[in-house]
Amino acid sequence: MNEFEAGRPVVLRGGTVLPMDGRRVLAGTDVLVSGDRIAAVGPGLAAPAGAAEIDASGGIVMPGMIDTHRHMWQTALRGYGADWTLTQYFVWFYLEHGKLFRPEDVHAGNTLAAIEALDAGVTTVVDWSHGLRTPDHADAAADALQAVPGRYVLAYGNIQQPPAEWTTAPEFRDFVRRRITGNDLLGFQLAFDVLGDPSFPEGPAFEVARDLGVPVTTHAGVWGATGDDGIRQMYEHGFMTPGTIYVHAASLSADSYHRIAATGGSISVSTESEQSAGQGYPPTWAVRAHGIPVSLSMDTSVWWSGDLFSAMRATLGADRSREHLEAHAKGETVTHCALRADQVVDWATRGGARAIGRDDLGTIEPGKKADLVLIKNDASPVSFPLLHPFGHVAFQAQRGDVHTVLVDGRVVKHRHRLLGIDLAAARAQADRTVEYLRSTMGEEAWEKGMNPDIPATKILDNPYTYTDFRSDSTHRL
Ligand SMILES: [Zn+2]
Repeated sequence: MNEFEAGRPVVLRGGTVLPMDGRRVLAGTDVLVSGDRIAAVGPGLAAPAGAAEIDASGGIVMPGMIDTHRHMWQTALRGYGADWTLTQYFVWFYLEHGKLFRPEDVHAGNTLAAIEALDAGVTTVVDWSHGLRTPDHADAAADALQAVPGRYVLAYGNIQQPPAEWTTAPEFRDFVRRRITGNDLLGFQLAFDVLGDPSFPEGPAFEVARDLGVPVTTHAGVWGATGDDGIRQMYEHGFMTPGTIYVHAASLSADSYHRIAATGGSISVSTESEQSAGQGYPPTWAVRAHGIPVSLSMDTSVWWSGDLFSAMRATLGADRSREHLEAHAKGETVTHCALRADQVVDWATRGGARAIGRDDLGTIEPGKKADLVLIKNDASPVSFPLLHPFGHVAFQAQRGDVHTVLVDGRVVKHRHRLLGIDLAAARAQADRTVEYLRSTMGEEAWEKGMNPDIPATKILDNPYTYTDFRSDSTHRL
């Protein structure tokens, strides 16, 4: 019997609750969930008869995390591109092999990505799904998202066709009519990039989004691909809206940031991605000065981890690193960190909710949707002492510490185990996709794709000589 059967109220007892309404921390506090909502927050709550009790003592209860940009369809290739640059990614996915993906491969990626997100306490994901080259691919993507518990926004895209073409195709309209039905667990956006062509060929795709009343999400400020021209065109044509999510926004001028700030959009920062792929420096250090709302994202599991603990950690590090560097360049010293741990936890929760226009998500308050995470791992030496809960989330915790996850009031992970998830089936699906891609590409292309050439590095001449060191053959550089 499932101790968390549908409709049974749940109470999380005695946790350290982060309501995410500022820097408030509520120690020894209960959270009562009834139906799909948070019913009450406080110490010693009286729970209805028959409520399931979860001991949250020693743990942190926070809102479910929200990832605002993840290419879930690519997850069946987990880790394949660990050593890629953005150029290599574009060549592999956009030009050479992305079109090999069949609907079942999109399904395999989305299924695994959805399970992976839940496991890590990410209860909402914007699926930046730009591999939808036929309606069958789109159906497969939506089928997978609807088969795994969790909240998703399908951001529909197709890198194999110009946006003005696929958005105006009758089969796209038909998909929207059939599949996007106002389901609270499946939102919808359009996903395409604005390349800065003076004729602004993306215009008709924006018109479609406006007509459907759905937001656009766009990779903006990507070095060598999208930049200030695209932002200016969107602005001049009146397509920058509060619902627009600008992904990366890393290689942009202050003028573009002003336009984003003035039109109310938000920026989705994928720090791990920007740091190693080359879109530009992770921009939080710059956009903070413009007051632009920020959310966090992981981009793709082809390179990076699918959990937002990594995103919070990397973002704090990159922001502070840049502040120190900028100061050092002026001969100055940073004595106080401007970006605090609670701010990145806010970006991973409430920031994501704001970005997708969901004010019923991202905080722990009565009446809000019950998307919750309990971080607790009694067997871990890293679980105590719990002194600075925001710092604990950002710098100490990791996905293995996610003890319990609720989505829409439903317990989907408990005692570190996913409930009602068929991991074996997901594994078999991913295996089939890997096998298919590998055999279709051929062994040589597969290996070459995963192991790009390494540029030669010349060891610099050194004016100092350490005779003893050099004579010691056991030392290697
Ligand atoms: Zn992306």
